[in-house]
Amino acid sequence: MEQLHCHVKQYAWGKFGEESEVARLFADGHEHFTIDKNAPYAELWMGTHPDGPAQLKKCLTKLSTHLAKNPSPLITNNNSSKNIHLPFIMKIMSIRTTLSLQVHPTKEQAKRLHERDPVHYPDRNHKPELAYALTRFELLCGFRPSNEILDNLKAFPSLRLLFGGEKMVQKLETVIIQNTSQSIKCRQALAACFKYMMMIQNSEVKGLVFKLLEELSNGVRGAVQENTVEVIRKMSIDFPNDIGIFSPLFLNHMILEPGQCCYYAAEELHAYLSGECVECVGCSNNTIRAAMTPKFIDREALCEVLNYKMTEPEDYLVHPTQLTDCVAEFAPDCKDFQLHKINVEIDQQPENSQLPALECASILVITSGSASIEERTQNDEFVSKYDIKRGDIFYIPSKQSIRIVNVIEPIEAYRTFSYEIGPDHESRIITTPSISSAAVEKSQKTSEKVIKLDEIDVAIA
Ligand SMILES: [Zn+2]
Repeated sequence: MEQLHCHVKQYAWGKFGEESEVARLFADGHEHFTIDKNAPYAELWMGTHPDGPAQLKKCLTKLSTHLAKNPSPLITNNNSSKNIHLPFIMKIMSIRTTLSLQVHPTKEQAKRLHERDPVHYPDRNHKPELAYALTRFELLCGFRPSNEILDNLKAFPSLRLLFGGEKMVQKLETVIIQNTSQSIKCRQALAACFKYMMMIQNSEVKGLVFKLLEELSNGVRGAVQENTVEVIRKMSIDFPNDIGIFSPLFLNHMILEPGQCCYYAAEELHAYLSGECVECVGCSNNTIRAAMTPKFIDREALCEVLNYKMTEPEDYLVHPTQLTDCVAEFAPDCKDFQLHKINVEIDQQPENSQLPALECASILVITSGSASIEERTQNDEFVSKYDIKRGDIFYIPSKQSIRIVNVIEPIEAYRTFSYEIGPDHESRIITTPSISSAAVEKSQKTSEKVIKLDEIDVAIA
C-alpha cells in the first residue's frame, strides 16, 4: 500500500477557493498546500494518466513507473514499458458552471480519431464515465424519450426551426409515431435534425436563442420542468448566444441527490451542470465537444459518434449492492472501473471493517473521518499499520487485505478498481501541461516534498 501525492486541475468551471470540495480535500491531504480564494479548483485526479499522474508521496516516483517496476499480471500490458497505467482515473469534481456539451468515443472511434487528429484526440482509449453525487448534482445526459422530444417540438417554434424547419421536423414526428423510438429509422431521423442544428450558422443562432427565451418568458413549457427552465436561463447568461442553450429541450435533465449515481458509456451526449461528485472514468482524455466551451469544438466528429438513443433518465442510474456492513458497490456495465463506497463507524467491530481483498489494483480516497488502516497479506499476516484521515489517498496493490480500525471519527471513503489491463500511453502526444519535471526535480534536490499547485498544473478548460 502506498500513499499518493495527487493532481488538481484548475479548469475555469471549477468552484472557487474554500467553496470547492476539491480544494478543501486536497488541502487536507497535502499539508503544505494553501487554498487561493480567487482560484478555481475543478478536479482532483487520482490515477496514472499522463495529463495528471499520481506520485508516491514518499519519493515522488510516478505511480505508473512504480507499477512498471512492481508488475502484477493484471495490470501489465507490456513488460518493457517504463510506465504501466491503471485502466481508470478516479476524480473528485467541484462544478460551478456548466461543462461543455460533449461525447466520448468508443475504443474503435478513438483509434480512428487519434489517427486523423492526434493533437485533439491524444490517445486511443475510450472514456466511459460514472458520477456519484456528493452533493446535489445536476447533469444533462442522453436524448429525452421520444414523446418528450415531440412535446417540445410542438411547444417551441424556435426548436422546430433549429431542427431543420417544418419538412424535417414533420418527418421526424411521423417516423417516431410509426416506429419504436429505439429503431434505426427513428435514430436516423433524429440524427438528420441534430446534424442540421450542429451545422447552423452562428449568426442565425442568436435570433433563435432570443426566440427561445421569449417563449419561456411567455410561459411555454412543453415537457420542460421549472428547474430545467432555470438551467436554460443560467446557460444563456454563462454562454450568451451559444447553441448549447437549446440542449435541455432534447436532453434528459437529471438531478441526483447525494448518494445517487449515474453511468454512461461512449456515444452519449452529456454535460455536467453543477455540484460535487466522485467521478470514475476510463484512463483517457478524449472528449469531442459541441458547444459551451472556449476549447476545440468538432461538431462533425461529434455527429458521427453519437448513438441518437432516446431514453428515460432512469436508464442511466446505477443502484448499489450492499456487500458488507461497511461497503456498498456501484458496478456499472463496464470493465474499466467499479466503485466501492466505504463507511466505518466508531463502534464497528474490527472483523466487520474488513475491505474486500481484490484480485486487482485499486485507489482509495478518504473523504471524512480519522482512523487507522491495517494492511495484511492474504494469509492474514500483519504487514503494516497507517493512521488515516480525510484527504489521504492510497494505492492498494492486488490481493492486499485491508481493515479499518481504531476509528476516532467515522470514516467515509471511496475505492475504485478494475480487472482490466490499462491502456498503453507510451506513444501519446501530451497536449496539456502535466506535472512539471522541474518542480519534481527541484523538490527532490532540496528533499522538500512541497510542490506548488501552480507548478503542477496550469491547464485551462
Ligand atoms: Zn464527459
